[in-house]
Parts: sequence; structure tokens; C-alpha cells
Amino acid sequence: MPMAQNKECGRPACHKISIYGKRYCEEHTKQKDKADYELYRKNDAGQKVYKSALWKKSRVSFLAQHPFCSVCRKEGRLTTATEVDHVIPIAQGHDPWDVENWDSKCASCHAKKTATEVGFGSKG
Ligand SMILES: [Zn+2]
Ligand SMILES: [Zn+2]
Repeated sequence: MPMAQNKECGRPACHKISIYGKRYCEEHTKQKDKADYELYRKNDAGQKVYKSALWKKSRVSFLAQHPFCSVCRKEGRLTTATEVDHVIPIAQGHDPWDVENWDSKCASCHAKKTATEVGFGSKG
């Protein structure tokens, strides 16, 4: 009985044999890696913003002006916001310094939103 069988590429309509241990054929593995790299690059740009001194300063003053979590407030609760969320994620190519796109959130609401932002295609 053979232990490991070569599987077909995971892409629809592609019947090439996938690389051993990978989901896709050689060609589609390369394509996927490129998409991952693009996403990584955009996330990396976001990380640079978050690490910058200007961001640290800006978020403190934004939180001072908008001290409560916007999500909790819609539900009638006043929760102290500790984080500034980008409504349209930077990973989607939005300008990180557009204050109109900033929103105060508490840590748990921010985490909930971030969890739904899996790459592109989220409505933000
Ligand atoms: Zn393929
Ligand atoms: Zn909240």
C-alpha cells in the first residue's frame, strides 16, 4: 500500500500534480507565494507606521479627543478606548495618516474587528 500519493493541484481546473507536501502545483505555488508576499509587504508598511514616533504621538492625542470605544458606545456602554483602529485597513492600501479613517476602540472590540480582516476582500 503506497503511503504518500501525489495529489492534484488545489486550484480549480488545474490537474497538474502538486509539489510534494504542498497544496498546489509548481506554477500555482509560485503565484500564491507572490500574493502572500504582496500582503506581507503591505502589512509591513503598516508595521512601520505603528512603530513610528509620529504614530505614537498621534494616537495618544486622538484617544484624548475620542476617549470611548465607538463600538461599545453604539451598544450603550462607555468603555475607555485604548487603541486607534484604521476603519479601512492599511493592508488594503489605505493612507495610514487619514484621520477620517481612524476610530477609537477598546482592546476587545479592536481584536474582534482585526480577526475578521483576513487579507483583502473584507468590507472594513
Ligand atoms: Zn496548479
Ligand atoms: Zn469596545
